[in-house]
Amino acid sequence: MPSIRILPRQLRDLIAAGEVVERAASVVKELIENSIDARSSEITIEIASSGKRLIRVSDNGLGMEPEDLRVCFLPHATSKLSSKEDLFKITTMGFRGEALSSIAAVSRMKITSSPADSTVGLSIEIDEGKIIKEQQLSHTGTTVEVRDLFYNTPARKKFLKSDRTENYHIIETVTQIALCHPEISFRLKIDKRDVLVLPSTNDLRERLVQLYGIEFINGLMEISAPPVIAFISRQDNLKATRAQQYLFVNNRPVRDSYIRHAIYSAYDILLPKDRHPLYFLYLYLPPEDVDFNVHPQKTEVRFRQKNQLYNRIYHILHKCIFEKESKTAIKHVDNKTFLQKQATEVDTREAKTSANTTYNAQVVSEPLAHFCSSFEGPIYIGDVFFAYSDGTGIWIVDQHAAHERIRYERLLKSSKSALSPFLFPRQVKLPPAEFNSLEANLSWLKELIDIDVFGENTFVVRALPDFLHDADLQSLLSELARVLQEGSGRTQIEELKDGAIKTMACHSSVRGRSRLTKEELIKLIQDLQEMDDPEHCPHGRPTRVRLDIKELKRMFKRQ
Ligand code: ADP
Ligand code: MG
Repeated sequence: MPSIRILPRQLRDLIAAGEVVERAASVVKELIENSIDARSSEITIEIASSGKRLIRVSDNGLGMEPEDLRVCFLPHATSKLSSKEDLFKITTMGFRGEALSSIAAVSRMKITSSPADSTVGLSIEIDEGKIIKEQQLSHTGTTVEVRDLFYNTPARKKFLKSDRTENYHIIETVTQIALCHPEISFRLKIDKRDVLVLPSTNDLRERLVQLYGIEFINGLMEISAPPVIAFISRQDNLKATRAQQYLFVNNRPVRDSYIRHAIYSAYDILLPKDRHPLYFLYLYLPPEDVDFNVHPQKTEVRFRQKNQLYNRIYHILHKCIFEKESKTAIKHVDNKTFLQKQATEVDTREAKTSANTTYNAQVVSEPLAHFCSSFEGPIYIGDVFFAYSDGTGIWIVDQHAAHERIRYERLLKSSKSALSPFLFPRQVKLPPAEFNSLEANLSWLKELIDIDVFGENTFVVRALPDFLHDADLQSLLSELARVLQEGSGRTQIEELKDGAIKTMACHSSVRGRSRLTKEELIKLIQDLQEMDDPEHCPHGRPTRVRLDIKELKRMFKRQ
């Protein structure tokens, strides 16, 4: 074994930096948190080349005296913690005194700051952990500039993703912090373009409206019962993905699967397996009841009375969901009403949609009549599967997967002219991160959807494929944004486009619970038969399985 050595300081700092500074968004987070701790009411964040070239955070907070400024970037330099006891009741965002030193270890940094009530500031430039230049100048508050991130750690730089992905994380980071601090005005500029402009307000709901638009917020119910303030999905506003699920503990964004479980459980029977609630859940706990000192980026916490907290959240949410939604809830438990509702839904759909896209009685043509005379059934097995016999075996079909396949292939083959316009164009406001990811792909997305930028974080949608007309447009665009985001490393537009088509095909396909009429099922069987790949849904799951008579004989030991 080689002999043991204590690592030199510079190397120690680089290793520590790796824990705090994972990507540009982590720098943004730490710098904004410092501005908040300095009681700023206005914070501006400027980014160039997704933070690789420049991250600049300016605030109007308390600032620093020159002697503090000259040491603030040293490891373990902090003004926020002085005793062991303080560590167990933390009220500031920072406390370890390691952010500035970690950032300085992997970038070239310049800090300009003036103490409160002074306009004479000092600016220091730091390289390799040392001040290389000092300058006096007029200034208010504090501005931290971080240039050439990871210039001295090429391995880490390689881990950075595309500009779009890094920008996405930056926008998401600022959004999350802004969601906790409506009283602070935030401005985020990326490559000189305003991406977020959030004036200060004293109302949490208003901040949500600034970020997501009024329509989005109207789909949420507001709950306030100590220690919880929450904005959560109404029962008719459940989504296909986990987007927009936020938990904040003492104004800090955190992840916690246990609390998430409490939220899901609160919806009880109202939440189908493949649906997810939107939630913005704020917990306000005594500082001594929660330990933030368990994760380098403080995104995980330890609760002192975890079970009690779980129960409290569950009961508060459950009560509100069921009080406000009791009328709708009855429909779901009362099977008869539920089935009646399904029947009327099918009726209206038949009346509304055009013949070539639905599976209804009117479209059963001559050849179809002939086609169906060749088999027995179909009959439902549960709500998702149906079976029929073709005389030599039994087919079991997953109705949802079959619809997805048919819609997928039709979308692949359809041209832009196949889009059908809305009577009135619809506007959809999206969270900035999602807006950006769609906007970046707009040129080819327009072949699938008639969509344009309409204003700040807002699109106007004029036409969609027929079958998506009743879809929840907001959640469709959110899903598309997520798929494009996940695939953004790929260079082939065709691949991204295929992902988008799959998402559209799967978005409003008949979900498990809506039962089709016999004629609709027959049309579905026939359409599936005509597909290039009738055996799989676009995501590769089987659409149908077959048990033939030989297999049946074997099973019954008749062979
Ligand atoms: P921590 O936030 O854990 O104390 P940091 O390394 O982030 O550690 O910051 C070190 C110190 O620098 C802070 O404790 C604070 O005194 C000072 N500081 C950093 N940023 C600012 C700012 N924007 N305004 C005023 N003081 C700041
Ligand atoms: Mg800090």
